[in-house]
Amino acid sequence: MKGTKTLEPKARAYHRSVCNICRSEYTSNYVEAAPGLIIHVCKNCLELTKHHFMWICLNCGRVYSIPKTLIMQRINNLELKKACLLSMDMQVIQGIDACIECDPEGTWEYTGMWSPIAQA
Ligand SMILES: [Zn+2]
Ligand SMILES: [Zn+2]
Repeated sequence: MKGTKTLEPKARAYHRSVCNICRSEYTSNYVEAAPGLIIHVCKNCLELTKHHFMWICLNCGRVYSIPKTLIMQRINNLELKKACLLSMDMQVIQGIDACIECDPEGTWEYTGMWSPIAQA
């Protein structure tokens, strides 16, 4: 993992679009993963982030979710573990520089845990 950044969910008053994660709910809640890369996240999916880490690839827009408990068991990188612990009880969505699809050669701490749930 090259880097992560925390994305803050925002709401737009007049702009509703289908949730990029479940693709069934319409919502005005979104995160701006990168300038111009808007990912809509409905409240059900945001609720999911209590128990799952939600990662959006800033490169391709794929969304990944991984159970927090699984991460804590498998991570060896202390820095990363600390960062994960900090967001344990928070509903956060994180942006990553590249996902396993975009950068298969990358050193993936999480190999085997990645499960793409949607594509933007
Ligand atoms: Zn949703
Ligand atoms: Zn990607």
